[in-house]
Amino acid sequence: MRCPVCQCPDNRVLESRSAESGHSVRRRRECLQCTHRFTTYERIEFVPIVVLKRSGERESFDRSKVLRGIVRACEKTGVSPMQLENVVDEIEAELQQRITREVSSSEIGELVLKYLQTLNEVAYIRFASVYKQFQGIRDFVETLNHLRESTECIELETLPAETENRAAVAPFMSPSR
Ligand SMILES: [Zn+2]
Repeated sequence: MRCPVCQCPDNRVLESRSAESGHSVRRRRECLQCTHRFTTYERIEFVPIVVLKRSGERESFDRSKVLRGIVRACEKTGVSPMQLENVVDEIEAELQQRITREVSSSEIGELVLKYLQTLNEVAYIRFASVYKQFQGIRDFVETLNHLRESTECIELETLPAETENRAAVAPFMSPSR
């Protein structure tokens, strides 16, 4: 690591700190020649993820491919390009955190569904219809029911908490005002 001012390769580390929630190490360095101080970051190397396709072929994970699939499902749904990028980011981060470097294309499909489910109902059903290769109206209805059930679960889970919050907040409000 050369000094950015005088290009001298020798420096000493003044301080090392964990950064980016433990994903990198930040080091404060001082040039031994001109005493200029600078900062370096050390990152964990990203190991490529291998995708096992239905055909049995293997290829390296390609985020633009995942994005293309989602873009198609989200056409005219009002989901912003930024939200789509975020979904792909989340999926890639989730895959990077796994111990195994190999993932099947169906696992990626399930991950996409997991994120679309919370994002947009139409996009979720569209993606599911392509990905699960719907054979007829029955598959469609099943997926729709599955989606409804999981949304109802979420609503039921959040409802009591909200009521509790209101009850907890209420005694401290208004009488003095
Ligand atoms: Zn220097």
